[in-house]
Amino acid sequence: MAVAATGVEERLLIGGEWVEAASGGRFDVTDPATGEPVGSVPDAGESDVKAAIGAAAGALDEWKALPALQRARILRKAADLIRERRDTIALVMTSEQGKPLAEAAGEVDYAASFLEWFGGEAERVYGQIVPPMNPTSRVLVLRQPVGVTAAITPWNFPAAMMTRKLGPAMAAGCTSVVKPASATPLTAALILRAIEDAGTPPGVVNLITSRSSGMVAQQLFSDARVRKISFTGSTEVGKELIRASADQVKRLSLELGGHAPYVIFDDADLDEAVDGLIASKFRNAGQTCVCANRTYVQAGVYDAVVAKLAEKVTKMVVGHGTEPGVTIGPLIDDRAVDKADEHVKDAIAQGARLVVGGERIEGSGSFYAPTVLEGVTPQMLISTEETFGPVAGITRFETEEEVIRVANESIYGLAAYFHTRDYARLLRVAEKLEYGIIGANTGIISAANAPFGGVKESGYGREGGSVGIDEYLDVKYIQVGGVGL
Ligand code: NAP
Repeated sequence: MAVAATGVEERLLIGGEWVEAASGGRFDVTDPATGEPVGSVPDAGESDVKAAIGAAAGALDEWKALPALQRARILRKAADLIRERRDTIALVMTSEQGKPLAEAAGEVDYAASFLEWFGGEAERVYGQIVPPMNPTSRVLVLRQPVGVTAAITPWNFPAAMMTRKLGPAMAAGCTSVVKPASATPLTAALILRAIEDAGTPPGVVNLITSRSSGMVAQQLFSDARVRKISFTGSTEVGKELIRASADQVKRLSLELGGHAPYVIFDDADLDEAVDGLIASKFRNAGQTCVCANRTYVQAGVYDAVVAKLAEKVTKMVVGHGTEPGVTIGPLIDDRAVDKADEHVKDAIAQGARLVVGGERIEGSGSFYAPTVLEGVTPQMLISTEETFGPVAGITRFETEEEVIRVANESIYGLAAYFHTRDYARLLRVAEKLEYGIIGANTGIISAANAPFGGVKESGYGREGGSVGIDEYLDVKYIQVGGVGL
């Protein structure tokens, strides 16, 4: 089925209407596996962003006044609709983003899980009654919706990064303007369509697609009606947004870049460790913020791990994500291929040994061969920067103290992983790693019921888990005097 045949809305959603940009401008969306256009969307300008903010502001009072149970029902219904439309959404996602269909279908379920989880949380936005200092007064604490919010999301998880923001925002009683990455706006349109079809009132969620992301951000940050912005993307852009937030002291949540260490100790279950490493490193062709970017293997099992990893990586099948059996799709564009290639060439030039892969795949589309390098050292680019490609670089280590030190030597602090069968070590190492998320004996850490987020330059704020809704709530306390005894 072609993308056009899925009926995806290739328009903006403003105040419950699917509309063109005021300018009439549009831009193409391309398939990274072929370089061919698969659709097009409006190129929104300033007046469209203002209209979307106006629609979100207009819908706010009614939405926040709706009983939490009704907001919860809408969220759960939206989750059900997204699951019912899994195949269609997955096909569109693969067509514009590249990941294999099975992974895309998995992301659709993961995206739905945020709406379902936060449907539950909507009903548990409790306040407090605090014992008073003065016996004639009372102290009440309320948690109230922040108001109009905005979400700016990346291309690597075009469905889940959006629902991870919209779920808690809607549950809390906030309204939103969402701006997906220009590479993946069609998946976003399908997600918003499902949310709309679930009975969400007009204006509660609004979609802006634009090639001018800086202009959209400028509009969002300069409009006093927008009270909070949640951003997932690169640390570089995140820093720009922190600066932009200063003028109006806008609330921000930032889910930024990562540079995850993946540590395998001598006492690990090696098959489990290699499977975990593959899941972490090669999912979405290595284009995830939590993917292993530095792999540290203890000396006693180093050769065995390199051999097991090489055997599995050699069997990976590269191709268009819709073809049966494909496990590695294209990278998002040719610049991403250049970056992966630069990291591999730099590592080899500095003495790393190429075990598998190590080359771009010529022809149409942006493909890079799944790659394993060993003998990687700290000064190589792959040890210091996010590669965002299917390249695993392996470094040998001797002691626990040494590996904790090198694992923590990063400006990033999003996710870290390690494998050991020693449970005292498991607790010790988990506590010492300076990261917001730890995978202990697993390479898969994403879940709607857990607080996802980083420390250091990986950002601040948490998405998911019971704390995820706090990002969309203001705390207010009421001191009531003269109550008497
Ligand atoms: P990006 O270039 O920072 O883009 C992210 C979003 O910001 C897109 O919607 C993009 O729109 C927009 N954007 C770009 N420049 C902007 C600007 N000057 N002002 C406002 N918005 C701007 O990141 P990406 O390349 O899409 O995504 C990859 C990065 O995201 C990686 O660093 C990855 O680690 C990180 N990430 C983090 C998490 C997490 O949870 N911590 C999750 C996923 C990804 P356009 O694309 O249309 O320009």
